[in-house]
Amino acid sequence: MLQLFLKKDRDAPIRRGHPWIFSGAIERVEGEADQIGVADVFDSKKNWLARGLYNPKSQLRIRVLTWHKENIDQSFFAQRLAHALAFRQQQLAANTNGYRLCNGEGDFLPGLIVDRYADFLVCQFFTAGMELFKDEIVGALRELSGATGIFERSEGRVREEERIEASVGTLAGEPPPEFIQIEEYGRKFLVDVRRGQKTGFFLDQRDSRAFLATLAHERTVLNCFSYTGGFSIYAFAAGAKAVTTFDSSLPALELAGRNLALNGFADAPGETIKGDAFAYLKEIEDKFDIIVLDPPSLAHKRGDIDAATGGYKFLNLHALKHLNPGGLLLTFSCSQHLPVDLFQKVVFGAAVDVGRKVAIVKHLGHPLDHPVSLHHPEGEYLKGLALRALD
Ligand code: SAH
Repeated sequence: MLQLFLKKDRDAPIRRGHPWIFSGAIERVEGEADQIGVADVFDSKKNWLARGLYNPKSQLRIRVLTWHKENIDQSFFAQRLAHALAFRQQQLAANTNGYRLCNGEGDFLPGLIVDRYADFLVCQFFTAGMELFKDEIVGALRELSGATGIFERSEGRVREEERIEASVGTLAGEPPPEFIQIEEYGRKFLVDVRRGQKTGFFLDQRDSRAFLATLAHERTVLNCFSYTGGFSIYAFAAGAKAVTTFDSSLPALELAGRNLALNGFADAPGETIKGDAFAYLKEIEDKFDIIVLDPPSLAHKRGDIDAATGGYKFLNLHALKHLNPGGLLLTFSCSQHLPVDLFQKVVFGAAVDVGRKVAIVKHLGHPLDHPVSLHHPEGEYLKGLALRALD
């Protein structure tokens, strides 16, 4: 097995349980240093620390899997996945058959995402190391989950950083249908796991959709950045007076239309509009009782933060202009690089500029199938504020 020795005084984060080691912390590698594989990590005095997956082509050289001397094989993955699945089954299965079964670092399996949509699983192998164990992981998932089929959507920026090609297709069992129907708190959604964003659905907003339902009765709602209409359907189901569903993606809006119909809201009052939300919020004069603002990540790397805060401020400022007195703004950022306190400051700046007094009524964020490791706070990407405008 590869052996990797850290530089002097670079062992503290690993001892505390952080799973990442960057190239700059590494003194030397013994063994086949140009091969992707399992590696043992030692401090500069040759004390054994941890075992993880090594990729010589990535700046993020090692992702630690375990702080024990255990074999990395199918039974290792089966054990971790069984824990993750048992927790979801206990906490969520009664309310939804769409949930994240494995949330990477948050389930102590860095680089692996597994989402369940009814009888199908969708996997994302984000790292070259995890990719090596694809067969073992798929084998473990087949045994544990009883899924009809396991599909893969391994693509995107993280894989580019790892220097691995995208890989999309059926891994085991039956290929998924064009649309998989899931049911979340009694609401039905069609999920396009092949072409949809992420693995097809924003499972991470489930708690916030349910929260909106507690507020939406007889209210007018703007669902801005709606994707396939999740918040809109919860709002209608809660008795909203009218809902505007807004997104820039035509396929997302077409599916939103089908989802509205599926839930009996095909003719419910409101509009579905395709466009750029930045321009729309600036141009319109309409007012709403509730606005949901759930943009895509505006900061993909640390260097984007300044531009991103400008974007978030613009959106929140213009959204606040369109809130009726006493209205509610549910505002989100899913930028991993934007910390929650900075997000709150940006929204505060928007409120000051627009001249409205605003109170936080609730902090919103990850539901429990998106756990964040206490040892890896970087995993906390989704943050949201439910705000009430005084007048
Ligand atoms: N709230 C949704 C998830 C939103 S994801 C849910 O609960 O399912 C972000 C959405 O923003 C995507 O659907 C994407 O198509 C859309 N989007 C990206 N840029 C946009 C823009 N400039 N204007 C409007 N929508 C945009």
